[in-house]
Amino acid sequence: MVKGNPFQNAIKQLEKATEYFKLDKKVMEALKQPQRVLEAEIPVEMDKGRTREFSAYRIQYNDALGPTKGGIRFHPEVSLDEVKALSFWMTLKCAVLGLPFGGAKGGVVCNPKELSKRELERISRGYVKAFFKCLGSDVDIPAPDVYTDAQVMAWMSDEYNKLAGRIVPGAFTGKPIVLGGSEGRDEATAQGGVYVLVEIVEKLGLNNEELTVAIQGYGNAGANVAKILHSLGYKIVAVSDSKGAAHAQVGIDPFEIEKHKMKTDSVVGFPGTSKLSNNQLLELKVDVLIPAALENQITKDNADKIKARIILELANGPTTFEADQILAKRKVVVIPDVLANAGGVTVSYFEWVQNRTGYYWDKEEVKNKLERMMVKATNEVWDYQERYLVDLRTAAYLVGIKRLSEALRYKGVYDEG
Ligand code: NAD
Repeated sequence: MVKGNPFQNAIKQLEKATEYFKLDKKVMEALKQPQRVLEAEIPVEMDKGRTREFSAYRIQYNDALGPTKGGIRFHPEVSLDEVKALSFWMTLKCAVLGLPFGGAKGGVVCNPKELSKRELERISRGYVKAFFKCLGSDVDIPAPDVYTDAQVMAWMSDEYNKLAGRIVPGAFTGKPIVLGGSEGRDEATAQGGVYVLVEIVEKLGLNNEELTVAIQGYGNAGANVAKILHSLGYKIVAVSDSKGAAHAQVGIDPFEIEKHKMKTDSVVGFPGTSKLSNNQLLELKVDVLIPAALENQITKDNADKIKARIILELANGPTTFEADQILAKRKVVVIPDVLANAGGVTVSYFEWVQNRTGYYWDKEEVKNKLERMMVKATNEVWDYQERYLVDLRTAAYLVGIKRLSEALRYKGVYDEG
């Protein structure tokens, strides 16, 4: 259950960052509101014959740095405010990484767990029909997010190509490799987060091989980060999904628990683990806590109880503004979403580049380029943290806002006089 208004949370974070940086009023106004909000009702013929309408959104928040970019979420609790917040964070994330993209996000209010494959396909194709005129590789480029994947991108990209009357592979990213997807895109969010974490663990003088980890959410981001960290010697002691958490202080094999989840539809009940609630997982005594599910999980109600030394935000917006202040006072190192989970959009950028040049890279090349970009962004954010004496989130916002305001200044958003 998503508590609170994520967009208000995002704007409070923006306002806090601008206390350290004199920002032109017009730029501030431009960053506080989305440029374009699109809404549609998608009519979908259900398997039993009747037609149901699904509410769908696409928000193109800001295109100062390039065509807008951001995932599409299928979830029963998708709301306009959630999509707005996610599109704002995408704008900042692309700016923090120095990508030539603005920020966008989309969503459909639906429960994929209650839909057949055919129904999901009709929703995916319906989404593209509804927003076709506003999408495109030079306009707005969607990607996967919660409960959408390469298959959904394949249907969407196919529908786009049919409507366009030509093949435009760069109009969607996160596609299957055979349809122009990039090597390494599946695990990109997790891999990018690991590059950032390893860099920060070293800066803090800790030893990467001795750290314990709890992960909330065992989907694309959560399961992949568990596997990569396990291979580096981290000990995964708890993981969760929407049904609850599995905990074992001796450590959990991420590959085995994934097999269990495939068989039983949940990580809960994996042999050798005890069941915890998602809230209990957040409060475990671990070195690294990784929220990798939904927003607003760490709030003023539980921030005092968090025992982790480092929080790596693979989810977007998992920590509320109030919780951030509490964690900062307690010296918990929060690696913010706009840096921690930017590996996904960075490899999406690589996919877009490969689609436009028609020349495809191997996995090694993708990983090397990703590592270089994530480490560079981490160092930039770290330097800002030291220069302005702020937390990492504020530092990341400062890096992003500076790029955005420079672009807006060149474009002429500033007052002439
Ligand atoms: P996913 O659909 O692959 O996985 C989501 C996971 O969260 C599932 O395991 C699900 O069971 C779990 N979950 C759902 N509700 C939950 C709840 N209330 N409590 C605990 N777990 C719950 O989604 P994903 O792509 O891994 O995205 C997860 C987060 O990472 C989101 O915040 C998303 O915006 C962010 N993110 C994803 C990407 C990407 O490339 N996939 C990129 C950047 C950020």
